[in-house]
Amino acid sequence: MGELKTVGFLGLGIMGSRMARNLAQKGLQVVAWNRSAARVAELAPFQVKAAATPAELAAQVDAFCTCVADPAALRQVALGPEGLLAGAKPGQLFIDFSTVSADLTRELEATFGARQVDFVEAPVTGSKGGADKGTLVIMAGAKDAAFARAAPIFERVGTKVVHCGPVGAGTQVKLAGNALIALMLEGLSEGMLLTQKAGVDPRKFLEVVQASGFKSPYYDFKGPAILARDFATAFSIDLMFKDLSLFLDSAAKHKVPTPAAAAVKETYQLARAQGKGGMDISAVVTSLEDLCGERLK
Ligand code: NAP
Repeated sequence: MGELKTVGFLGLGIMGSRMARNLAQKGLQVVAWNRSAARVAELAPFQVKAAATPAELAAQVDAFCTCVADPAALRQVALGPEGLLAGAKPGQLFIDFSTVSADLTRELEATFGARQVDFVEAPVTGSKGGADKGTLVIMAGAKDAAFARAAPIFERVGTKVVHCGPVGAGTQVKLAGNALIALMLEGLSEGMLLTQKAGVDPRKFLEVVQASGFKSPYYDFKGPAILARDFATAFSIDLMFKDLSLFLDSAAKHKVPTPAAAAVKETYQLARAQGKGGMDISAVVTSLEDLCGERLK
């Protein structure tokens, strides 16, 4: 297993397009595939080459990475007709950066392992800005030898890698982290709305939160954006709904009561029912506004 020189990237959405660009700008030869081909052409200025299918991509690289929306998309790209498995060769490395279920990542490790392809699960956090700057936090799940092979790729897209355990462990940590984000955002939104409806400037609430023991960089990021009504999508409501669903599926499997996450999932369901699934998760505040007839000013 030699040096990784040629790397494939599949899934050029908000996250994947920026990660693939960083790999290309930091000395790797990148071959890309995306369901909508136009997104591959956007990376041509960075010498990123296009592959016609995932199988064709897998046949020409040392390692391949995926960052697609959800478990169904990953299954299609990895195992579907003309998927990665159809072109994979012994000695390759497969890194999945998507957020999916631990059951699926374990299945992929077993299936690609039977082809002597090492698999590393690597969901990320840091959103669009972290993907852009190459400062993502990576939650890896892998056998030690496979994890070590992923270092040249990880160091080009992220600044912190936590090896959480075997495949499945990274996903469990990622899902818990995203449930926490949803709860934090719900708390901020409900707090700001009630503050304003009771006649107090929600900026005062935000100022006190950020001066307190419960402050968070996340609120620096989202609080002012919400008050400015800047809902440009960094992470969509549809994808957070997917992550809360995966978190609750796992909670059901492991018999862990998670009443707050179950309730917050309904806020996301409401936003989706209102046609807001493609908007940023911060726009859930607009669904809460609709419920209480108050709009943040
Ligand atoms: P996105 O912008 O919606 O992009 C989704 C990608 O998945 C696109 O390349 C899309 O292809 C592809 N895709 C969707 N369904 C597919 C299918 N059936 N077959 C093949 N490809 C399919 O999403 P994103 O924000 O980049 O997120 C990607 C992954 O990273 C998700 O698992 C998400 O949960 C995770 N994540 C996101 C963030 C964030 O802040 N955005 C942070 C951490 C983790 P098309 O271009 O053809 O639609």
